[in-house]
Amino acid sequence: MDAAHMGADLERVLVTEAQIQVRLGELAADVWRDYEGKDLLLVGVLKGAVMVMSDLMRALPGTAPMDWMAISSYGSGTKSSGVVRILKDLDTDITDRHVLIVEDIVDSGLTLSWIRSNLESRSAASVEILTLLRKPGAAKVEVDVKYVGFDIPNEFVVGYGLDYAEKFRNLRDVGTLAPHVYS
Ligand code: 5GP
Repeated sequence: MDAAHMGADLERVLVTEAQIQVRLGELAADVWRDYEGKDLLLVGVLKGAVMVMSDLMRALPGTAPMDWMAISSYGSGTKSSGVVRILKDLDTDITDRHVLIVEDIVDSGLTLSWIRSNLESRSAASVEILTLLRKPGAAKVEVDVKYVGFDIPNEFVVGYGLDYAEKFRNLRDVGTLAPHVYS
């Protein structure tokens, strides 16, 4: 779905599809250089990271396996609860492996810091984080994110995998919603 297909539901585009592709290409090159010779496993967080994972993987200049986790997060609202529950765990044993968590967005950081410590407790060789988007103003928890696509303002965004009540994940760009959508 293009921005034009959203009509009055879209307030404005913050990051375009083209900007995302360029940035993911740069991040893929960084990741490949940093993990050279290491047993890298990409771990995506469902469902928001689906687009980031598929484009990041294809931008890598070599192959790496992926695995997925699903956790409870926002439900259909717009605020993080900080309560994390595993809905789907990894299929892979990550002992002694170099794990890169692939995320769509870091808001408060509560979700990611929980996932990171959970994966670290499974004896991974290393656990780092890549996120397409980061809202710096909202950090309630210090979470060390190694790779960041874009810093964005503290607004609720949709598109490129990010939803509002399971809608708008298929918008190609990242943008904000018009106020009438929430009411
Ligand atoms: P945190 O725990 O960092 O506050 O929230 C992380 C999760 O909340 C993200 O993985 C994402 O699912 C959701 N989230 C945070 N900010 C936004 C946003 O602006 N838009 C959408 N659609 N989801 C968000």
